[in-house]
Amino acid sequence: MAKRILVTGGAGFIGSNLVARLVDEGNHIICLDNFSTGPRSNVSHLVDTGRFELVDRDVRDPFFFEVDAIYNLACPASPSHYQADPIGTMMTNILGARNVLDLSKSAQIPIVQASTSEVYGDPLQHPQCEENWGHVNPIGVRACYDEGKRSAETLFFDYQRKHNVQIKVVRIFNTYGPKMQAADGRVISNFIVQALRNADITIYGNGEQTRSFCYIDDLVEALTRTMATGPEVTGPINLGNPDEITVLGLAELIREMVNSRSKIVHLPLPHDDPRKRRPEITKARTLLDWKPRTKLSEGINLTIEHFSHILSDERVARNVIDQRPCLQGVSFPSGRLGRQSDRPE
Ligand code: NAD
Ligand code: UDP
Repeated sequence: MAKRILVTGGAGFIGSNLVARLVDEGNHIICLDNFSTGPRSNVSHLVDTGRFELVDRDVRDPFFFEVDAIYNLACPASPSHYQADPIGTMMTNILGARNVLDLSKSAQIPIVQASTSEVYGDPLQHPQCEENWGHVNPIGVRACYDEGKRSAETLFFDYQRKHNVQIKVVRIFNTYGPKMQAADGRVISNFIVQALRNADITIYGNGEQTRSFCYIDDLVEALTRTMATGPEVTGPINLGNPDEITVLGLAELIREMVNSRSKIVHLPLPHDDPRKRRPEITKARTLLDWKPRTKLSEGINLTIEHFSHILSDERVARNVIDQRPCLQGVSFPSGRLGRQSDRPE
């Protein structure tokens, strides 16, 4: 049955893919976003369906909407984004969680919380299962995100115990795919954009660190299945693809798939960068009857297509501007054009 659903952070990478699916299914979506890392253009076309409202608001400020369910996704997710405003990131996690939980409590509606594999920090157990408590540096540069998400989980479980709120906490592992921004800063978008531009592919550290990448459509399927579970399912549930790869292996795969002339270069490893990450997904398999279906090469192919379109649109825009002398000196809007290092193609 069609529902009214609030999605915070609905203009972002995961949010925009999720709301497209929910609107397609006939639901009415209220998308709350402050557009700090997700552009309006990811979702503005959905307004024409008549089943999509775009609300320009910050999740840290209290709000009220008449809805049947909530997905709480509002939070920058790329390390370069969340570290640019660490206090804002921490507060988005904590105040955002409090605000969605208060709404969920008063309306008695279920709420899916986008938590993260970062709650495991630089993990001591491998693969990571939900019983692991994590290994996080509480005063490091990643803490605003890791500890912010951990605090949000604490609030979720306290609201559940104190007020019987129908919480559903999912711990999302690295996810990728269409609607990521070229300047997002995460590894798959960086490597694909660099490979398409024949620019240097930037590996941080020696590239032996591992990640396990889940394609966006698989994740969206898991999120909707989580929402459909009964009130006894509170999580936490790991959502991710257990296929693990080194960062160096990923760089080589992308360079080969793009048929790129890029060189691989090494830059310093960021502080507290987790050395390995791989989800144990037995809980997701049993509680949601879910497993990821998209192979890494398939998903990367679809993501290469997405970025090829973005880059060719940018080239067209640049040519149009370059050919109009009256516009000399016009600077490109930040975040879209000319922000990545541009090499001759
Ligand atoms: P994203 O940065 O693309 O999207 C986040 C969205 O939240 C953006 O549209 C942004 O404008 C919005 N936002 C940020 N702060 C806000 C605020 N204070 N008020 C209102 N809106 C705000 O990131 P994403 O990859 O789509 O991640 C979505 C959620 O999933 C995040 O909570 C993230 O922590 C979680 N997650 C993502 C991944 C992943 O691999 N993509 C992994 C683990 C967890
Ligand atoms: N990384 C890299 N080059 C880049 C971007 C990221 O080598 O241009 C590495 C990063 O150091 C980390 C891994 O890729 O080890 C995944 O980084 P990402 O920012 O995508 O997500 P994280 O898992 O760190 O949150």
